[in-house]
Amino acid sequence: MKNIIFIAPPAAGKGTQSDLLVKKYGYNHISMGDLLRKEASEKSEIGKEVDEVIKSGNLVTDEMILKLTDKALETIEEPYIFDGFPRNMSQAKILEEALIRFNKAKPITIYLDVSKEEAFKRGTGRLNCPTCGKIYHKHLDEVKPKTEWICDDCKVDLVSRNDDSEKAFTVRYENYIEKTLPLLDYFKNKGELYVIENPMFPMETFAKIEAIIK
Ligand code: AMP
Repeated sequence: MKNIIFIAPPAAGKGTQSDLLVKKYGYNHISMGDLLRKEASEKSEIGKEVDEVIKSGNLVTDEMILKLTDKALETIEEPYIFDGFPRNMSQAKILEEALIRFNKAKPITIYLDVSKEEAFKRGTGRLNCPTCGKIYHKHLDEVKPKTEWICDDCKVDLVSRNDDSEKAFTVRYENYIEKTLPLLDYFKNKGELYVIENPMFPMETFAKIEAIIK
């Protein structure tokens, strides 16, 4: 099974696809956003700083990302998924060097090509389970909770992420266009890049990903 990097705008479905890959194929999922939200929940000075940056929709420092990447790669078994990393050119270099340091195989890159309008619609309707992390959506039938605002598995109230507000989402999207999107050329030249155009339905997208990784 191939290691994977997902490149996509915020709320395009990276987390949902990662969850499906974990369940069906036992992938190890490294979500940089989840690792950072964990840091932010610590009441330390660094935690508070990370929390502020996440709320604003901006990117945290590459120094912090380097630390978390090393920590994750030290223990992770293959196959792995990097979700939300790398997000800029210097992070792509951080990853390249860390993979050599920790003797891990190179990943393929899967690009979920979602339009701006669709990303905004998904981002601002997204709901998360605070217990298991499962992602739902208020309006997309395939990923709607069975009972409104309740996690199907944990039966706890779902929450909206504070960086899914329209203001923070706009900053996140702008950062994506300016800093993350240029990575496509880099990965095209460096390794294997697969493009999934206009992924609308999670299970249909998953079938396309399965065809790529097998
Ligand atoms: P995500 O869960 O991937 O949408 O990430 C949520 C937020 O965490 C982002 O808007 C950034 O503030 C921060 N973040 C996640 N991944 C990275 C990264 N690779 N580099 C810098 N900041 C990140």
